[in-house]
Amino acid sequence: MVTTNGAYNDDTCDDNDPRHRHQHQHQQEIEATVSEEEVVASTMPIPSPTSASTTTASTATTRRRGFVRNLVELPKAELHIHLEGAMRRTTLVELCAKYSITPVPPDTAHQRFEDFSAFVEVYIAACNCLREESDIYRLVFEIAHDLQQQNVTWVEIAPSLTFYQERFGGFAPTLQVLAAAAEAAEVATGVGFGFIISIERQLGVYAAEQLANIVAQQTQPQPQAAAAGTEEESSPSSSLLPLLQICGRPAIVGFGLHGPEEKNPPSQFTKAFHIACGRSTNTQTSTLVSVPHAGEIAPSLGQGAQSVIDAVTLLRANRIGHGVLAYGNDAAMTLLENNNTNICLDVCVSSNYYLRVVPSLHEHPLPLFLKKEIPCTINSDDPLLFGCTILSEYELCRAELQMEDRILAQCARYSFQYSCAPEHIKTMNIQNIDRWLASTL
Ligand SMILES: [Zn+2]
Repeated sequence: MVTTNGAYNDDTCDDNDPRHRHQHQHQQEIEATVSEEEVVASTMPIPSPTSASTTTASTATTRRRGFVRNLVELPKAELHIHLEGAMRRTTLVELCAKYSITPVPPDTAHQRFEDFSAFVEVYIAACNCLREESDIYRLVFEIAHDLQQQNVTWVEIAPSLTFYQERFGGFAPTLQVLAAAAEAAEVATGVGFGFIISIERQLGVYAAEQLANIVAQQTQPQPQAAAAGTEEESSPSSSLLPLLQICGRPAIVGFGLHGPEEKNPPSQFTKAFHIACGRSTNTQTSTLVSVPHAGEIAPSLGQGAQSVIDAVTLLRANRIGHGVLAYGNDAAMTLLENNNTNICLDVCVSSNYYLRVVPSLHEHPLPLFLKKEIPCTINSDDPLLFGCTILSEYELCRAELQMEDRILAQCARYSFQYSCAPEHIKTMNIQNIDRWLASTL
């Protein structure tokens, strides 16, 4: 039985399962090191998020016991990253020039947003720059290369196809280009790809359920949809290749929920998630994970935690994008702590800070979720918008949230355990995380 924190109960444990062996080992490591490292942690100053002097102090602090290992070398999976929001700034500028898009949107890296207007302006510009297949290949290859440099070996990335799919002939042909680019990038870099196809909340319930039907057909192919390459390919949905693949695996691994949360609570999209994820009759016919954004911005005043509850109970979330507004709400926290729900939060600290979801970096609740044994992963969300990377997020968690190496390693383990990566990739990377933690300078 998988518990909330990914541990396995002893009475059902199979030590031949590598996940079980790792879990036992991790527990022993934590028990062996916790007292010593906590003594060190308790003596450390809490740095100010913006103070240069405390950054220096923080850097010195991180070299103390428990904070010493090279985070580049830590294997990671990135589970919460948006395709267009991961475009390099230099690429955005060059593509704007290529297509005479003026003015070039502002560089918003490392700045707190006053509202969403600048955020939307940059994001839409990035989508607007994708006009030829070569643009998509460039974007995907650069993302893969950037992730490879950070020792990210698996990524589940969410494209916002809605904003540019018509230039490529619609949803299915655009997804085919993306999958082909991802496969080529995976072969070149070794970074494994999966796509999360997502509802754009602002487009409404009808569009959401239309998308869900297309995704369901793609991932739960019916016999009549298997005739790829025939003249039946006339409508966007029927032209989908059955089980579109990347390196022999399904290209689509998850179904998400994006866009403005305000006035668009998860409950509106219950049917769409049941269609896409195939759980309306508990038949589990789909292998797609349910990965909605929730608990980042409240749909209405005071309803942030309820949106997390709805994501779990109505959308049957496997993982939640953000979920941070659950903290402090007893019902939401109880649900997340429940062994049976087994929900992982895909957390993005910089994103939450720059979008003012949290008042300051050191008030981010990530360490508090982890202390309650709620599985959490560390992610970048939109590197273009925030100027961060997954590596810088791990470094930020170490420097500003005082997260020790064993905790960062546990987040990295969660990133594979809760991913849709093939089992052999999970096993190999978790073994390498163990080696990383066992190493010293
Ligand atoms: Zn996001």
